[in-house]
Amino acid sequence: MREVLNGLWKLQELDIGISELEFKKGSIPKQIQESNKEVQAKKNELQEKQKVFEEHNDQRKKLEQEIKEAKDAATRYRSQLLQVKTNKEYQSLLHEINTQETKISAYEEEILEHLAQSEELSKKVEKLDKELEKNREKFVKYEEKMQQELHQVEKVLLSKKEKRERLTSGISKAILSRYEQIRRGRGGVGVVKIFGPTCDGCNAVLPPQFVAEVKKGNRILTCEQCGRILVWKENVD
Ligand SMILES: [Zn+2]
Repeated sequence: MREVLNGLWKLQELDIGISELEFKKGSIPKQIQESNKEVQAKKNELQEKQKVFEEHNDQRKKLEQEIKEAKDAATRYRSQLLQVKTNKEYQSLLHEINTQETKISAYEEEILEHLAQSEELSKKVEKLDKELEKNREKFVKYEEKMQQELHQVEKVLLSKKEKRERLTSGISKAILSRYEQIRRGRGGVGVVKIFGPTCDGCNAVLPPQFVAEVKKGNRILTCEQCGRILVWKENVD
């Protein structure tokens, strides 16, 4: 029976290791994904800035077109000045010319403002572009490292599972299913090693007579409070 208890203890240790590795295996792709989010965020920021940059350029081009039209109009009015007959018509044309010129200088000021904004944005875009490149390189390295780690985890996991297979083949089906049942209901821990009169699984104080029985290791004994199988520290390796 001691051998069975020792086997169960080994199985328990193995199962804890396996579930830790399973957890790690599941978390690695998530970590990679999380890291890629940073790259994506930087990319979005860059695209946003580029969009605004383009908008300023478009606005500037529109204004240049407006200026051209206003200049053409002013030229047209000036040539008409030579043909007018009355002072009223003359004054009216002067007024039109003046209006166009006011428009032109207002547009020119707007253009300068757009140019200043574009210049500032272009610096930001350049900086973001460099940052994005760095983030990308960092991500590629990180992903590579994590893939290697994943590969390693899978390898160890496989060997632990093979070991488990060998171990369980030496334990009776009835005991195994009892172990599994307790483990399922108790957060993955079905066997607890005790060092004294307390259950390490739930901290319940165990009666001395009961502890003495566990020490003997002649049969499978479970904690009255948590139901876990108890093994004495010196009976297992
Ligand atoms: Zn207990």
